[in-house]
Amino acid sequence: MIQVQNITKSFGKLQVLKGIDLHIPQGKLYSIVGPSGAGKTTLLQIMGTLSNPDSGHVEIRGEKLSKLGEKKLAAFRNREIGFVFQFHYLLPEFTALENVCIPAFIAKRSKKDAEEKAKDLLNFLGLKDRMTHKPAELSGGERQRVAVARALVNDPAVIFADEPSGNLDTKNREDLHDLFFKLRDEFNQTLVIVTHDENFARQSDKIVAMRDGWIEE
Ligand code: ADP
Repeated sequence: MIQVQNITKSFGKLQVLKGIDLHIPQGKLYSIVGPSGAGKTTLLQIMGTLSNPDSGHVEIRGEKLSKLGEKKLAAFRNREIGFVFQFHYLLPEFTALENVCIPAFIAKRSKKDAEEKAKDLLNFLGLKDRMTHKPAELSGGERQRVAVARALVNDPAVIFADEPSGNLDTKNREDLHDLFFKLRDEFNQTLVIVTHDENFARQSDKIVAMRDGWIEE
């Protein structure tokens, strides 16, 4: 599903990624761990098309990202990649349902189709009674589940998550982790998750341990 070949990236004089190779098969949950500053977020952003490498290539579902122009890349990102961040970034003036629909509208899907899919997802994520709530009326765990539904609405090839449970209490963190495993097991979803949670990382299919811009193990 994801092929990363010899990626390098520098910010000024600091080389943050020093030649990363990684192959992630469909339907697997990979966790990326390592100390702060190791390059985890930079790698995730490059795989997720949010940032370009200085050299090397990323291929997702057979599509070489560097070959896509700006416009095609934006459409590819919206269709094939779901992001979940530490903070949910929901739009405060819209309901949970409307927030989940947004990537589907950007993909020019009909209102009916988008809403059906968004409702199914919110149902699946245990948010049936929360669809018309705005983010401020939801708990932290609920908001993060809405963010997961939004990431899934276009049936993306892969979900990239950066410290998705970093801002949650223990119970909500465990619920979110269970949800990621459920997505893998029931939908064959590919997930790549940067985490500091060792317990969660141990349960994933593979742990990618980074240090100083390298994959250490
Ligand atoms: P991690 O996610 O493992 O903590 P990051 O990928 O966020 O590591 O950062 C790796 C290094 O790159 C850090 O030293 C960070 O300060 C630096 N860095 C990240 N993004 C930028 C940027 N946009 N400009 C300059 N330096 C950056």
